[in-house]
Formats: sequence, structure tokens, C-alpha cells
Amino acid sequence: MSEAPQGKGNRLDPWLDNYAARAHGLRASETRSLFAVASRPEVVSLAGGMPNLKDLPLDRLAEATASMIRKDGGKALQYGNGQGLPRLREQITEVMALEGIDADPEDVIITTGSQQAVDIITELFTDPGDVILAEAPTYVGSLSIFSTYQADVQQVPIDADGVIPEALEERILNLEREGRRIKFFYCLPNFHNPAGVTLSEARRPQIIEICRKHHVLIVEDNPYGLLGFEGQTYTALKTLAPEDVVYLGSFSKIFAPGYRVGWAVAPPAVREKMKLASEAAILCPSSVGQYSISMYLDQFDWRQQIEEFRGMYRTRRDAMISALEEHMPMCRWNVPAGGFYVWLNLPEGVDAKEMLPRAVTNLVAYVSGTAFYAGGRAGRDHVRLSFCYPEPAEIREGVRRLSEVVSRDLEILELFGPVPERSQGSNGISAPAPDQI
Ligand code: PMP
Repeated sequence: MSEAPQGKGNRLDPWLDNYAARAHGLRASETRSLFAVASRPEVVSLAGGMPNLKDLPLDRLAEATASMIRKDGGKALQYGNGQGLPRLREQITEVMALEGIDADPEDVIITTGSQQAVDIITELFTDPGDVILAEAPTYVGSLSIFSTYQADVQQVPIDADGVIPEALEERILNLEREGRRIKFFYCLPNFHNPAGVTLSEARRPQIIEICRKHHVLIVEDNPYGLLGFEGQTYTALKTLAPEDVVYLGSFSKIFAPGYRVGWAVAPPAVREKMKLASEAAILCPSSVGQYSISMYLDQFDWRQQIEEFRGMYRTRRDAMISALEEHMPMCRWNVPAGGFYVWLNLPEGVDAKEMLPRAVTNLVAYVSGTAFYAGGRAGRDHVRLSFCYPEPAEIREGVRRLSEVVSRDLEILELFGPVPERSQGSNGISAPAPDQI
């Protein structure tokens, strides 16, 4: 067996020096490294954003899938069209119609989850050092993609009504003054991950206007849009500006993520490039996944299923909010109108990242706010709490356990004050952090 040349790489990875520059940014996300611990049964995990599939009719799905394979197996188990199954693309336009979006099946491209759509878009538009605008905070999975393509992610502040238009425009102007290239604005208008907020109707045309004025493409990522707890939906940015928006949708949260079927709707020229990029990467999206979803949309009452999901997630949101009210008077939070997440603001000085091991020891897991910022420096004052997966009683217990950890950290803060940025030994010599020696 050949060995890597002497002095190259290290003992753990002899190929370390051979990676492309873009591979060096690839690190396990905070959510990922947590899963190993948080999946132990004694830990209440408020960390992952896994949809709750307990209400899906598995027996009926199994039977319908078996007869679909018997009938259409020759096609469902074969390679397919790079743009996706034409019948499913039509059905996707019916799903989008629930949010008032009028799309042509020709403009739809089916992807391996909306995650692949973010990947393709970033690949197509971003050279190393190019700017991608995103909200502060933003979805950790997209940040990983942006980092792989060595983009400079510039995050724009949000408030309870979503991204702040003035802040967006100011950032764009500053970047233009510096001669920087802005490739697109990645936006999560509905039931934001992680912040739980929704872009107000009033701000939507303003955001469009600003991006149009500065020729910035909008990537509208909308996996949660049909999960409004009161059945409410919002005007898609895509509806307001079809030529300026690449819209991303997914079956992961309204049906099941295991099929890995999502989609994008893009202006024709962009859609064509996306198709070529997708074919280069994966040849075609999973045929059997597409046939299964198409069968589900034909034969099951999927609108009613979404209605049930809404009710189920609303009950969990309510459990989390009432537990926060009972146990966490020292924190602030938003009340999400849909989706999976509460963005919890910790008391001043309490550090989400530092507190995490203590929380896990107290048998509750969350994601530190730092995961949702490029560079991971901001966000220590927040944690993302997911209410989608655990039972309401577990959610309440998880929040109670978390409140114990926050209270203890607060007591320590009162006794010793905040931990200095760079810890100094008592003799004034700065020492490396314990986990580095
Ligand atoms: N975007 C957002 C905002 C998400 O929360 C997720 C999944 N958590 C995705 C995209 C990716 O979803 P999928 O690939 O399963 O469609």
C-alpha cells in the first residue's frame, strides 16, 4: 500500500495537504456534533429541526408505494429527466398555489431537497470572495454551502418583522462603494430558521424594490411557508417579482424529508443553468422518490395532512411558550406564528456556546446561536429551541431543565463577573484555552 509522502498531512489525515482550498472550511456543524449526544434517550433534544412524522399513515403509504412500484416500477427505478418528472412538476405548481404562487411547470426544477437547490445556485453564481447577503441569523445548512464556495457572507440584521429594509440597502450601498460584487440575497421570509420571525407584508415590496434597484438576485427559501399555525400564508417574493427571484420549496416539512425531494422555480435562463449544473452533479433527482411523492399527491388528502401537521406543531409551540413563561422569566423570546423554532435571548452575559456542555449534562440540548452566523462569533446571546420533534411533556421538561442551567450560569456570573474575552493566568501570562492543550 502506498503511503502519503513524508511530512505531508498528519497522522489523522495523510491527505490534509491535498485538499482544495474550499475543503478546509468544511467542519461538522454545531447541530451535527450535537446529534450524537442529543440522540440519547435521556436527553431532551430541543436541538435538531427534524420534522415530526408520527401522524403519517405509514401502512397506507406502504401499500400505495408497493402498488406504484408494481405499476410504474420500470420508470420509477430507472434514471429520469434532469429537470424532474413532468407530472410532479405540475403537481408542485398546485402545492405552490396554496401560497398564491402562480408558476409554470416548465420553470420548475426538482432537486435533492431544497438543500441541493441552494448548493446549485451558490455554485452557479459565486466565485471565491464574492458577497452573498443573508439575514443575521440565517440557516446553518446554507452557511455551510456558502463557506464551501468561499463566499464572503454578509449578514443583515432582522427584527420581529424580518429583515430590516434600511439595513439591507445601507449594506448594499457600502459594498458597492467598496467595489464588491454581490451575487444574491438569501432570504427566509416565512417562519425563519432559526429566528422564528416572518417578513411583514409591508416590507416585502420594499425588499424587492431595493434588490431591483441594485440588481441583486433574491433567493427565497421557503420550506415552512405552509406551516402557519392559523393556516395563514404570505405573499411570496416570487409573486411580487418573478424575474428577480429564485424560489425554493421542499416536501421535507409538509410531507417527509426521507424522499429528499425539493424544487426551485427560477427565471428560464437561470433554470436552464441549474438543470445543467444538477445533471453534472447527480444526473437526475431520485426517480423513485419523485414517483412516490407524485403518487402521494394523487392518492392522499395531502392538504388535510398539512392541516394536521399545523395543529400538531401549534400544540408543541404552545407547550414551549407556556413552559418559557413559567420557567424562564430571565429570558426573552418571540412567539412564532408557524414553523419549528423559538429564538431565545439569554440574559446579559450568559454565553450560549459555553453553556451547552452544562445543558447536555443537565439532559437538555439546543443549538447555540453562534451556529447561525458566518464566522461563528456573533450569536452567543441566543439559542435556537426546536419544538417540532419532542412530545409536549418533553418540551416542558426540556425547558425546565434549561432554566436550571441558565439560572446556575446567572448565579456564577453574579459571583465572578463575565469571563474575559481572552483568559489570563493569575500571573498575567495568557494561557491557551484548556481544550487546546
Ligand atoms: N432551508 C431551510 C431554511 C431549512 O430549514 C432546511 C432544512 N432544515 C432546508 C433548507 C433543507 O431542506 P431539504 O433539503 O430537506 O428540503
